[in-house]
Amino acid sequence: MEDALDKIKSQAGPCGIVCGSCPLGSGTVAETAARTKKHIVDCQIPMWSPFVPGGEVIDWTAMDRGLDWMAKYACCAGCENGGGPPDCTIRICARERGYELCSFCSDLDSCTKFEWLKEHGSVLKEKLKENRGLFKVEYIKKMMAQMP
Ligand code: SF4
Repeated sequence: MEDALDKIKSQAGPCGIVCGSCPLGSGTVAETAARTKKHIVDCQIPMWSPFVPGGEVIDWTAMDRGLDWMAKYACCAGCENGGGPPDCTIRICARERGYELCSFCSDLDSCTKFEWLKEHGSVLKEKLKENRGLFKVEYIKKMMAQMP
């Protein structure tokens, strides 16, 4: 996880998501999947699960495949390193307009490109509005300082 964190710790998307605060960016999801896989083996869960209600129907082979997949792919390199959803409307637009953060865009208030992120998109927009004028490095520092 330290490796993943090192790669993205000074990154944020133009949408305002700070990569170090995201469980996909920080490597938490991938690491948890790998650890869960190890716990399943170490605790021999498939052996005793059939004796616990509901445990007899679990496909442990599929679970193993899923966790392997997550450990390998459920991580994000961050927008600056080619990660994130390839068709993200926010990143594409911000790049075209030359903004590192959408808080520098005069169209932020009326922008509809955050809508695909639903409620989270509205929260991000508000954060960007509150932090207009902050350069990316300052914004990341401030957001990281607010993390629990
Ligand atoms: S219009 Fe402005 S605020 Fe909206 S995505 Fe593009 S750069 Fe960001």
